[in-house]
Parts: sequence; structure tokens; C-alpha cells
Amino acid sequence: MGKLKLIENVNTIFTADSQGREFTDAYVLISGDEIEEVGEVPYSGRDPDERYDATDMVMIPGLINTHHHLYQTLFRNFKEVNSAKLFDWLTALYDRWAKMGEEAIYTSTVIGTAELLLSGATTTSDHLYLFPGGNNKLFDTEVRAAMQVGIRFYPTRGSMSLSREDGGLPPKEVVQTEEEILGEYERVIDEYHDEEKFSMVRVALSPCSPFSVSDELMRETARLARQEGVRLHTHLGETEDENQFCLEQVGLRPVDYMEELGWVGDDVWFAHLVHLTDDEIKRLSRASVGMSHCPSSNMRLGSGIAPVTKMKETGIDISFGVDGSASNDGSNMIKELRQGLLLQRVKYGAEALSPREVLKFGTIGGARALGREEEIGSIEPGKAADLVMVDLNRLEYAGGLSDPVSALIMCDTKGVDFTMVDGEVLVQDGRLANEDLLDFVPKQNAIAKGFYSD
Ligand SMILES: [Zn+2]
Repeated sequence: MGKLKLIENVNTIFTADSQGREFTDAYVLISGDEIEEVGEVPYSGRDPDERYDATDMVMIPGLINTHHHLYQTLFRNFKEVNSAKLFDWLTALYDRWAKMGEEAIYTSTVIGTAELLLSGATTTSDHLYLFPGGNNKLFDTEVRAAMQVGIRFYPTRGSMSLSREDGGLPPKEVVQTEEEILGEYERVIDEYHDEEKFSMVRVALSPCSPFSVSDELMRETARLARQEGVRLHTHLGETEDENQFCLEQVGLRPVDYMEELGWVGDDVWFAHLVHLTDDEIKRLSRASVGMSHCPSSNMRLGSGIAPVTKMKETGIDISFGVDGSASNDGSNMIKELRQGLLLQRVKYGAEALSPREVLKFGTIGGARALGREEEIGSIEPGKAADLVMVDLNRLEYAGGLSDPVSALIMCDTKGVDFTMVDGEVLVQDGRLANEDLLDFVPKQNAIAKGFYSD
């Protein structure tokens, strides 16, 4: 049995459970990596090994980031493309990305995941689809880096096989043969996909987009994923250009094309889903797909406003993603929820989304999109101890405490004060428990600078 930890005197706990419960003046008892009890003080059970006083804190389940490209933290605010739209932005950056090695991947993964912890994320997915020069070990490198930081990780093994010569967008240095890709899919599943309860690493398969590999590889990826019991992920419906491109290439809109490829199901989550018809939303809902809404990236690249408000009553599992930091240009998870709420209101009015709705999308919604809703995403006995707290005495909340839970979203939360992953405290008093991770900042800047002059 693990250590017993008691977090007590919590101002409010937003549980994100199915009954929508909130506790005031509350406690959480944690045994090892698992939540054992949630209730209102006084706590009268057995003596804990450690106690945390959470007076004036609001607690939420750890946020779950369902879409990211951690390596892109090296390319944020990249001067030449900081006002480009998606296809131009991609074309300009691919040549730089083609030069990344293991140090770049390790360092950028540490930076991105540390930012996520400081902004309340306890689980993150990552979409790594570049293996320059066929360096397959980059996947292993990013898993190692995420484990050093301590975040719960859901890396996805990406792929690109169509280069510019074959009608794709990337240069040939970053594409691989389909045979090699399939071999690597199997290897990373064997080595890293851990189905144990509360496992720290699970793997999914994720061609970069339906247009960066052949239709055969899309089908083979889905077949292999289902045979191995892993999930599928890719970008879809991000821009109007993509719809046009898809119509020209295969004579179908993206959702039609994905249906034809066997890629629409409850084991698939898509990033973006911005440009959809009402009928496409209905079909995706029937299939219970997951969606990762990435509002900052959509705004930054001028891609459009995803119809989240229309989707929220459907069977689509809505979650949030910060997306690659080259298009965001940050990995701040709690701010992403606020962006999502505000952006929906631009299009659908003030009642489009509430603060509690986006908190649910950012927690239990993310767990559902990743197929882990039995283990993470809410504060309930039997779930993993992935917990986040924010101190209501922060400057940005002063005067805004009529509803402490919604303050986290409506006010300008700059970061969180406490992050626990799998029962381990990784952020305390708003700072990383492992401050050595900050040594990666100068390293990251030096690596990024190497890409400027190219
Ligand atoms: Zn992306």
C-alpha cells in the first residue's frame, strides 16, 4: 500500500463527475496513486502520512491535453511565418524540422511538458510525425523526456510517406517508406503501450494527415490499431484549403474520405474538426468519435471556428488541445480552455459555452477522447490521483470570487499552484518541484537559434 496523503480545507472541489458534484470546505484522501475518498471536512479516518493544507484553493481534476506537437516548442513565434496560414506555414517549416535530432526532441519535450504541468495538465498526448533521416529513435527519446518530467503521456506514432515528389507537402528527408512505418508502429506498441490501470504511457497511431500517407497506409494503420487494441489519431477538417485539396485529390470531403478508409469510430480522435457540415457532425456523433479542439491554433492560423457549441449535445467526445507550439505559441492548458470559451461566444453568443462546460471538456472530455474515462478525468474514489489546485489569493482573481470555480476560466489564470500526477506532487507553490528542469531553457534557446539562419 502506498503513502496516505490528505489534502484538506480545500475551498471548493470541482469533481467533473457524472452528477456534476462540487464540494466546499472539502478534503481528498489519496492512497499511493489512487483517490480513496472525497468529502467535506472534518476528515475523521486513519492518520495520513502527509497532510496538505489547501485553504483558499480550488481543486479540479488534472487537465488532459489531447493534441500537441511538443517538438514545435523550438519553433514558436518563428519570425518568417508568424503571420502565415496553415499550408504556407507548414511548407516553410518542414525544411527546418528536417534537421531535428535527439537533443532537439528531448529538450523540446521537457520544455513543453513542464509548461503543461505549470498550467494544470497532468496528461498529455503528443503527435510526433517527423523522423528526419529515418531516425526512429526520436519516439523513444520523447517518451524518455516525458518520463523525466513525470507527466502521464499518450504519445502517438505519426507518419508521412508522401513527399513533394509524390504530391505531398514535406521534403523527402522527413518521409519514410510505408513498410518502415508499419514496422515502427508495431515496435512502439510492443515497447511502450501499457494497458495496466493508471499506466503512465499509452500509444496511439497517427498519420500526420490523410494526405501525408497513401490511402493504403491509412487503411493498414486502422487495421493494425484495431488488431493491437490501440487508438487512432490524426488532423481533420482544419482549414477550408484542406477541404478543397481533398476534393481535388480524391473527389471527397475529408469526413467522407475518412469513412471510406474505415477511420470513423469510437477509437478515433481527431484534432480540429473546424470545417464540418451539420450532416458530418451527425455522422461523427453516431460513431462517437473524439475531437480535440485547439482554439488558439485555429485563431493563430486563421483556420476558423470549430462548431463546438453545435457538437456539445451530440455523441462527439469534446476535449481540448494546445496544438503544436509553433501555431499557438504556448503550451498553457488552462488558458486554452478560456480561449475556447471566448471563441465560441464570438460565433454563437454569450450562452454558447459556460466555464463549467469547458472545465468538463478539459478533464473528463479528454479522458473520454483518449478512452481512459475509467481511470482519469474526474475526482472520484478509484480514479488516479491527478489533481490540480489554484490559489484564490492570486492577483488576477482579486474581486472575482463570487464563484470560485468559474474564476479559473473567466479570470486570467496565469498558471496553477499545485499539480499532482499519479500521487506525486510535481508543482507546488506555482513552481516546478524539480527546478532542475529549468536548465533546459537555455539549452532550448541555443537549439532554436541554430534554426534561425537556415
Ligand atoms: Zn496539430
